[in-house]
Amino acid sequence: MIPFNKPFLTGKETLYIEQAVRSGKISGDGLFTEKCHQFFENRYGFKKCLLTTSCTDALEMAAILLNITEGDEVIMPSYTFVSTANAFVLRGAKIIFCDSGKESPHIDVNNIESLITEKTKVIVPVHYAGMACNMDVIMDLATKYNLFVVEDAAQSVDAFYKGKPLGSIGHLAAFSFHETKNVMAGEGGMLVINDDKFLKRAEIIREKGTNRSALFRGEIDHYGWVDIGSSFLPSEITAAFLYAQLENLDQIQITRIRIWCRYLLELKPLEAKGYFQLPHIPEGASNNGHIFHILTNNLKERDGLIAHLKSKDIQSVFHYLSLHQSPFYSSVYDGLPLPKSDHYSETLLRLPLYYGLTEHEQNKVIAAIFEYYDIVNETKNVSYLVKNQ
Ligand SMILES: *Cc1c(COP(=O)(O)O)cnc(C)c1O
Repeated sequence: MIPFNKPFLTGKETLYIEQAVRSGKISGDGLFTEKCHQFFENRYGFKKCLLTTSCTDALEMAAILLNITEGDEVIMPSYTFVSTANAFVLRGAKIIFCDSGKESPHIDVNNIESLITEKTKVIVPVHYAGMACNMDVIMDLATKYNLFVVEDAAQSVDAFYKGKPLGSIGHLAAFSFHETKNVMAGEGGMLVINDDKFLKRAEIIREKGTNRSALFRGEIDHYGWVDIGSSFLPSEITAAFLYAQLENLDQIQITRIRIWCRYLLELKPLEAKGYFQLPHIPEGASNNGHIFHILTNNLKERDGLIAHLKSKDIQSVFHYLSLHQSPFYSSVYDGLPLPKSDHYSETLLRLPLYYGLTEHEQNKVIAAIFEYYDIVNETKNVSYLVKNQ
């Protein structure tokens, strides 16, 4: 069986967890959390990093920090994970979904300006597959209309836009270290704060609305309840696990990108025949090898391909169902139809991509795809012949 994802372990995770446990400081913000923060701040120049228990939590922190209240409008793609929207819905925001672009599932930046109203407060670009949105246009719009930008950088570790690290461009950014991401801690996330004015309040919100972080630094002699907040910080066990992964980031990235490029190269002949579309890397974006997807010609062919791969013991998956069509949001959604978003929901298929995927296994996946399109085209030819007899 070739699974869709297989978590990669560097071998140091349990060693570091043991060190964390033995240190006697197992709750959050100990040595390993500090090491993780420093790793990101030093390597990417992020102003301030705060580990969270998930990217979902980091997005919820962002919504609290931006004082999102009832009726505020937040613009984001409909083609994304639920948490992108849910974090703002929890604060009472109205989500203004924007369609995806023609070339890739990213938010169509040409559509954003027409969605901006007096009530718009935030734009949330989602860097799909760790590939950057057109951040020049988005940041220009944010400046022009005085809006905040929260990058959903869940998939964007070690990814860049025109040389700038993703997560460093918006006012705030949220990363994920869920098991399915390039570097992971089972569950985990991080809020990046690039705008000074959010620094102080962010650590309070993360510490249940208290100023305990300032107490730890010795700045005050007792701590108390000073704001709203929640328990957003992970324990040292999570941070220890994550740090073991971060130490191997370069090796992980090289391997994933190599597998990604091989899919692209080997599947090119099928794309040339018009059987499906290969991923398009947006202008200015780097590729961090997070997702390899193809876009089939229609839903039926995608379902057929999933079933064919399954018959060969290969697991492939699709995502996301457009959020404006979701059981939760469709009844309140009063915006425009989003045909591109729906199109990606129906045709996008993700192939197995993980550190441990061997060349032999990848060959099997590629061969199975060739085989499927042979069958599809034989059937088409046969029905053509039958029709024209
Ligand atoms: C994975 C993901 C999330 C959620 O991350 P968690 O760490 O599981 O909360 C949010 N947005 C996008 C685009 C994701 O891919």
